[in-house]
Amino acid sequence: MAEKRDYYEVLGVSKNATDAEIKSAFRKKAKEFHPDLNKDNPDAAEKFKEAQEAYSVLSDENKRKMYDQYGHAGVNGGASGAGYGSYGGFDASDFDFGDIFDSFFGGGFSNFGSSSRGRTRAAKGSDVLMRMDLDFEDAVYGTEKKFNLDVVEECDECHGKGGFDSEQCSTCHGSGTVTTKQQTILGSFVSKTTCPDCGGAGRVYKRKCSECHGKGQIKKNKNITINIPAGINTGDRLRVSGKGNPGTNGGENGDLYLEFVVKEHEYFTRDNDDIYLEVPLTITEAILGCKKEIPTLYGNVKLNITPGTDSEDKQRIRGKGIDNKYHKHKGDMYVVFKVYTPKKLSRDQRNLIEKLNETDLDTPEIKEFYHFVKEND
Ligand SMILES: [Zn+2]
Ligand SMILES: [Zn+2]
Repeated sequence: MAEKRDYYEVLGVSKNATDAEIKSAFRKKAKEFHPDLNKDNPDAAEKFKEAQEAYSVLSDENKRKMYDQYGHAGVNGGASGAGYGSYGGFDASDFDFGDIFDSFFGGGFSNFGSSSRGRTRAAKGSDVLMRMDLDFEDAVYGTEKKFNLDVVEECDECHGKGGFDSEQCSTCHGSGTVTTKQQTILGSFVSKTTCPDCGGAGRVYKRKCSECHGKGQIKKNKNITINIPAGINTGDRLRVSGKGNPGTNGGENGDLYLEFVVKEHEYFTRDNDDIYLEVPLTITEAILGCKKEIPTLYGNVKLNITPGTDSEDKQRIRGKGIDNKYHKHKGDMYVVFKVYTPKKLSRDQRNLIEKLNETDLDTPEIKEFYHFVKEND
């Protein structure tokens, strides 16, 4: 990138030029390089902006002081090349330069730098995200939910127009914009703004719609029914089409997204589509094995528990997890055993346990541990 040129050099004035000299120099440069007059010169726009930037700094007492002391870094945050046309009150995109040059050449300029703002283009409204709490069972089996929601929609009475019998706006004569003049030392700047009376449409209604008070949109309380598919989980979203924020200029409403938060169950624990259930065992059930009735999402089932079951041992029951219609996947159920050691024993129980304790109950793991204890000594 080329070095930024000295602002005094850009305008062709000396370091101690007076305000009047600077102003006059800028007028000359602006006339020379205005893009509308220099369609054949590809550098003209850049030169024009360069002059504009130089003038915006040198015509401002404080900025000029900063520039004299620190150079470009003082007025530009040190970013070379940045900030063209971005000085306060001098943004080419906000102002129509036509008027100031009209005074030199008698008119005929197109709007430099101003772009159409697409004010009347229809745009879809934004989406809305809503949280919804769900009971564990509703999420597992699926459910239907009804709720009321205020949705701003097009007014039925006036079909979104806000009124009846349109006529040309007398404020802007149908153009949709009004121009205001700003006096500056350079002359008057013309800035265009949306007409306040017709909002840019160029037409107004003789009769305002009483239903929506001319807004064209009206808040309606909607009864919404949604089908929540089996298996929905925390963080899953469902889309309810057209129930989001209203569009503009006849654009359709955005969508409503429901994001679910599924409550926990007292016994079942969910891991995606798998279900975990802790099943408590006595020490003898764990040692001898047993048959036990256990709950599943689909009713109770009889389970064979193998002899010698430890705490934390798992047993899988295929297909008894969540039948997820949302993610189209079926989970399993896992039974996790937990052995509870009795804290109180009767005299008889204690005798039996003591008798049992006289026998060799060591498992290979226990034997190995004692081997290590001896070695370590
Ligand atoms: Zn209406
Ligand atoms: Zn108007």
